[in-house]
Amino acid sequence: MKSRKWRTRPAAFFMGNPHPMAHHGAVAVIGLGRFGGSLATELAAYGVDVIGIDINEEVVAQYSDKLAFVSRTDATDETVLRQLGLEDVSQVVIAIGNDLEASILTASKVLKIGNRHIWAKAVSQAHADILGQLGIDNVIRPENDMGRRTAHLIRGNMSDFMPVSEDFVLARTAPPVRISDSPLASFDVRREYGVSVVAFRRDGEDSWDIADQDVTLYANDEILIAGSPGEVEDFSTLDEDDEEG
Ligand code: ATP
Repeated sequence: MKSRKWRTRPAAFFMGNPHPMAHHGAVAVIGLGRFGGSLATELAAYGVDVIGIDINEEVVAQYSDKLAFVSRTDATDETVLRQLGLEDVSQVVIAIGNDLEASILTASKVLKIGNRHIWAKAVSQAHADILGQLGIDNVIRPENDMGRRTAHLIRGNMSDFMPVSEDFVLARTAPPVRISDSPLASFDVRREYGVSVVAFRRDGEDSWDIADQDVTLYANDEILIAGSPGEVEDFSTLDEDDEEG
């Protein structure tokens, strides 16, 4: 993990430091609710200098020792965004959801000060559409995305399901009996089931490896497969289908 260049200095802004820690590589997270807060903490844990901004003083206090810099600020205030140096950070995440006006105003102010590297959370399709019309390419709808993902986890026999696009996903599952105990090359998985076995992990081991054609999979291994959502789901339930049939 990269060592931190900045210590938490929550008072810097109020002490008149115009650019408390903004620099290329830093990420500003505006709105430290459940989504913004966990995103900011995870980035910080991986060595990213995070500027956390929230209008609520208690929320800011919770993150003062977790992030490189925190500021209690109304993010719709363009002057303050400039003073925090938001035009210089690599990415800005707008994680305000319920207050639509605050979310949209903040987005327009960040665009106005010249930073176009924005990720924004939306709570509805209308909210997502407005953010898109403003010119924000990365609009996230965490509840919807999680809902879709969970639906596939419930339907299939998968321990993880990662959408790459509408019609292409990666999923983690166990190798079906039909493709176990002999080298992968002997099964023609792609043609037979429409999916590719991308990687595998042996029972009890931590590391994953690329699934070359000469690899033999066993029942207690885990595999990562790629394909369309339907084919991936069908492949993950092959053993159940075989038992029923
Ligand atoms: P989550 O689901 O992530 O917990 P939420 O949808 O319940 O979020 P939101 O209303 O989206 O809650 O607010 C997220 C955070 O954004 C809150 O901590 C709130 O204080 C902060 N926030 C709201 N308006 C502003 C603003 N104008 N400037 C800065 N922060 C704000």
